[in-house]
Amino acid sequence: MISAHRPRNIAFFGGTFDPVHCGHVSIAKTLLGLFGLDKFFFLPAFHAPHKPDSKPTSGYHRFAMLSLATVEESKISVSTLELDHAKTRYSFDTLTELKTIYPNDRIFFVMGADSWRDIRTWHRWEDVLLLTDHIVVSRPGYELALGHVTEGVMERIVDVRGEKETISTLPRPQIYFTDAVQFDISATEIREDVRNDDILDRTDDVPDVVAKYIEKYELYR
Ligand code: ATP
Repeated sequence: MISAHRPRNIAFFGGTFDPVHCGHVSIAKTLLGLFGLDKFFFLPAFHAPHKPDSKPTSGYHRFAMLSLATVEESKISVSTLELDHAKTRYSFDTLTELKTIYPNDRIFFVMGADSWRDIRTWHRWEDVLLLTDHIVVSRPGYELALGHVTEGVMERIVDVRGEKETISTLPRPQIYFTDAVQFDISATEIREDVRNDDILDRTDDVPDVVAKYIEKYELYR
């Protein structure tokens, strides 16, 4: 059991997860080891503020698929925090709330390289980056660029690309860049494949249980 006094390292991975795919799951498993995390939460958004034109699949289905995909992993869970609010929510507000829920723990917010590229479009983006630690994960086709952020943000970037063993994190909130996961897959491709009846060829891309769930509930048709 984890001691109540030792600050825990807890990661939150925000996204739409429509559906969760093997890239997402691989990120969770890899970061648990690389950063010596105690717990990893998927944090499905009710409706992502940066995707205003798309209507995601019901949060119930997205939550169910995430839960099925992670049921065997004791350190990986799914948080209902954003779904419970039942409206579009900014990461700034969610991270502020998480800090009050876990005042004695260290929070790592996880995002992929495409989210990092678009970070300046986020509400109060510089404050978001200051609130907690962040882990930015490489994604094939997206460069981990620096040119778009301010000097203050740049100074807090810790480049751990190439590291495969558990790294020692620094005492103050930082922004870690890692390339420990390389998974060329997107939820958009999965949805397109289902629409084209290709899902059974794609079980390397979504966990088996998720493929079965998609078929059973006839999602993405
Ligand atoms: P969509 O194709 O619908 O936009 P997606 O595959 O990008 O979906 P999201 O649920 O939007 O998945 O992503 C949640 C988070 O996971 C984002 O921070 C995104 O950058 C990251 N992510 C998704 N897929 C990958 C991947 N293959 N490699 C690295 N990061 C990823």
